[in-house]
Amino acid sequence: MSIPLLEVRDLKKHFPVRTGLLQRVTAHVKAVDGVSFSLDQGETLGLVGESGCGKSTTGRAILRLLPVTSGEVMFQGKNLLAMHGEELRRARQQFQMVFQDPFASLDPRMTVSRIVGEPLEAHGLGSSKAERDDRVVHILEEVGLDPSVLNRYAFEFSGGQRQRIGIARALVLNPSLVVADEPVSALDVSIQAQVINLLAELREKLSLTYLFIAHDLSVVKHISDRVAVMYLGRIVETARTEELFSDPMHPYTQALLSAAPVPEPGKKGERIILGGDVPSPLNPPSGCTFHPRCFRAMDRCSREIPELMERKNGHFTACHLYD
Ligand code: SF4
Repeated sequence: MSIPLLEVRDLKKHFPVRTGLLQRVTAHVKAVDGVSFSLDQGETLGLVGESGCGKSTTGRAILRLLPVTSGEVMFQGKNLLAMHGEELRRARQQFQMVFQDPFASLDPRMTVSRIVGEPLEAHGLGSSKAERDDRVVHILEEVGLDPSVLNRYAFEFSGGQRQRIGIARALVLNPSLVVADEPVSALDVSIQAQVINLLAELREKLSLTYLFIAHDLSVVKHISDRVAVMYLGRIVETARTEELFSDPMHPYTQALLSAAPVPEPGKKGERIILGGDVPSPLNPPSGCTFHPRCFRAMDRCSREIPELMERKNGHFTACHLYD
């Protein structure tokens, strides 16, 4: 059996909270609290949840953009969290991130040539500027930008074009894994589908594997092979995309889906309105952390933490309703 490209095991990222004159650590925000999943080569996993659920922190922790509290991140069979120096630098070429806001993530005073070519320089790739420029031109063409944009500045472009530049920068090193952190949420709705289609085309053409992070289930539906739903630092449900959309088991997923726009008229069920906001991960509710908002909560839900368990073939959910 082939090993997964990425395997995340019991990943935790807790942020210390310091208070008082001496700035002592008095509590921890459990932003990511025991996340596990794997991704095969060429697969796309959609990681979905409301803002503050820990999905972006998960993406950043996996790519070592943040120090991890505990857990393992196996990339091509090797523990990424144990890598240092040259080994880590070489591994970094293999995984890249596309950021949410193409206005904030690209320096507006840099030319496209510098923005996209910088990772090549940083990794010492390409023997000359001409060789690096060739690679930059090639990747710009792959993302649908004309090479004539090379000497223009990032501020001259629209949001959709800037995100294409961001994608070109992420792909210029020819990575295997791309973590796309809400790559379309800052864009106009009319542009969102274009960028998602581009990412889907590039995945096929360049054999990419995606962790696609979004707060909206409808955004990940068409690009993901599987979907994982996060709530307060944990995955509460994961299944193949079609299965998750046709038979959502966790009440939180059911509520998210009931709020999503459905293209076929007459197919939409009753909308489930969740009470309140996502609780603070600084002081999460006891038992199932979703219980204060859950429309199916039972007595035991406030006492016992439900485990993420396989309930059907490849369909996992963390909910006492199925115990
Ligand atoms: Fe709702 Fe209980 Fe299931 Fe949590 S465990 S989702 S509170 S029914």
